[in-house]
Amino acid sequence: MFPASFEYHRASSVKEALSMLQQFGEDGKLLAGGHSLIPMMKLRLAQPAHLVDIGGIRELAAIREDGGKVIIGGLATHYAVEVSDLVRAKLGMLSGCAAVIGDTQVRNRGTIGGSLAHADPAADYPAAVLALEGEIRIEGTAGSRTVKADEFFLDLMTTAVQPGEMLTQVAFAPVAAGAGFIYVKHRQPASGFAMVGVAALVTLDKKGNCERVRVGITGLGPKPFRAKAVEAALQGKAPAQAIAGAAAHAADGIDALSDIHASADFRAELARVYTRRALETAASRAKA
Ligand SMILES: Cc1cc2nc3c(=O)[nH]c(=O)nc-3n(C[C@H](O)[C@H](O)[C@H](O)COP(=O)(O)OP(=O)(O)OC[C@H]3O[C@@H](n4cnc5c(N)ncnc54)[C@H](O)[C@@H]3O)c2cc1C
Repeated sequence: MFPASFEYHRASSVKEALSMLQQFGEDGKLLAGGHSLIPMMKLRLAQPAHLVDIGGIRELAAIREDGGKVIIGGLATHYAVEVSDLVRAKLGMLSGCAAVIGDTQVRNRGTIGGSLAHADPAADYPAAVLALEGEIRIEGTAGSRTVKADEFFLDLMTTAVQPGEMLTQVAFAPVAAGAGFIYVKHRQPASGFAMVGVAALVTLDKKGNCERVRVGITGLGPKPFRAKAVEAALQGKAPAQAIAGAAAHAADGIDALSDIHASADFRAELARVYTRRALETAASRAKA
């Protein structure tokens, strides 16, 4: 299948990309790794008249530390996040999540910015970015702003990125020493996308009770979300006694998706089961 015809433009800086977006208005779209946009164009679900390729803006691919935070450029590929020593040391959940996205080709081309901005309801990164409380930098010609992960995903494939803006980086506080964490998913066997994916992070207090619990869930509803009812049910409790009851809240209040891969009821059950498993693993890895 072939996409509708379009004009290709290459931006050499964020400023140039933003100016092109402004010039083309709703006819323009950013192209990063192309692993979501190009399939959509081939299916004619997207028909931008102008593609602005940001793949050459190398500084956007950097992964670095600044002001005590780990900063991941919007153009960092899934593979770069997976193998970064800095990410492995300070945000192990994120590298673990990147490692299970799609296949080798997808991980070599796809970018964290493209994945978050595209906001496919079955994408993996959002669960981990929510549990790690990432801060997403969005830039436009009028300036930049930072949006918390919890406020970034608005609806099905809809985020806080407005027309004419681009996601330039995601910043994270390093995971606390002694925290236990994991990202687990029930894979759609053909693509690897998450039918349901759960990121769990647990820190324990000196008595071994849950001090801080963060749970991000993707694949279940139209947008990824923090499972705050699960988190609250574990707060201050001994994990072994409380996890099963807490995980039962994983799908509370969520309008679960139903499609050819899974019914809404099945997805909700997957969310409960994978939340329990993720929390058990995270708690077992946490050090009091
Ligand atoms: C076969 C296959 C299997 C896959 N399996 C998985 C999987 O298991 N898990 C998973 O999570 N994903 C999976 N994906 C999706 C993959 O991770 C994509 O690479 C990713 O979702 C989009 O990143 P990209 O860089 O390719 O973005 P692109 O396809 O280039 O862009 C996607 C959208 O985001 C916009 N965009 C891109 N960059 C920015 C930016 N910096 N700021 C604002 N807007 C931007 C584009 O305009 C476009 O609308 C799979 C894809 C394929 C083809």
